[in-house]
Amino acid sequence: MKANIIDGKAIAKKIREDIRQKTIKLKEDRGIIPGLTVILVGDDPASQIYVRNKEKSCRSVGINSNIIHYDSNISQDTLLKKIYELNEDEDVHGILVQLPLPKHIKSQIVLNAIDPQKDVDGFHPVNVGKLVIGEKTLEPCTAKGIIYLIEETGIEIEGKHAVVIGRSNIVGKPVSLMLLHKNATVTMCHSKTEDLKDIARQADILVVAVGNPEFIDGSYIKEGAVVIDVGTSRVNNKLYGDIKFEEAVNKAGWITPVPGGVGPMTIAMLLENTLYCAQT
Ligand code: NAP
Repeated sequence: MKANIIDGKAIAKKIREDIRQKTIKLKEDRGIIPGLTVILVGDDPASQIYVRNKEKSCRSVGINSNIIHYDSNISQDTLLKKIYELNEDEDVHGILVQLPLPKHIKSQIVLNAIDPQKDVDGFHPVNVGKLVIGEKTLEPCTAKGIIYLIEETGIEIEGKHAVVIGRSNIVGKPVSLMLLHKNATVTMCHSKTEDLKDIARQADILVVAVGNPEFIDGSYIKEGAVVIDVGTSRVNNKLYGDIKFEEAVNKAGWITPVPGGVGPMTIAMLLENTLYCAQT
């Protein structure tokens, strides 16, 4: 039997509409218009597209968005000074530094400079720490979107075996922690994991965030599993996930497509985090 498709595009659209309504209400009740400032350094074409999409999405829900674009040779100090300035600006509720940054700039130092209460990406160590101990915090957008998609299936996370392939700070680790807080039994896999296929095949919930086009085929998937494909790799101008969809769709119970799965949710969660920062 073919899997149910988890339509991230449609789910994200619903969330955006809800954010739009709440943004109107925030302005009516308290005169606050949420504001997001995105800092882009250099001319990486993919980063430019991501930043433009974020701006467009902000506008569509009534969030003020401002892009600050620097040359790739900007100094780390200039960047830090700008962040300190934005931290003090009452009209700026969220600050996002688009990664990757040029090599001469230390990303973690820059991310650490953002006021944790304006850290809409959830990458500041204070927010990461809160996530680890299970306190309410700004959660990384992609991980938050993944949990949302899993919950949309109606399948209970508690008690399930969740296998997460990939252990990056922006996807694999936060989504593993979030699944753990929802009482899944979590196995985190990475490039040194042995017997990856055997482990993946035990997963009731399988999240793959590797960045290797179609490397997970149908043989890695347990019958009926919820399968979330985070990967996005562009090959010859076509977008590929980490999962061989045509095979996986015949094994899984639920599956996300690429594109139209996790991607739209990441932006929706960014808008949600920005609104949250403006509300609190
Ligand atoms: P990353 O930082 O490069 O991490 C990749 C992870 O995959 C690492 O933990 C690595 O293990 C692991 N890995 C690599 N080869 C493996 C293998 N053969 N078997 C098992 N694990 C393996 O990547 P990321 O930032 O998490 O992103 C992952 C993918 O998701 C990329 O395609 C990215 O474009 C996509 N992404 C999409 C969105 C979205 O909104 N749709 C958002 C973020 C990321 P080690 O730690 O051992 O190296």
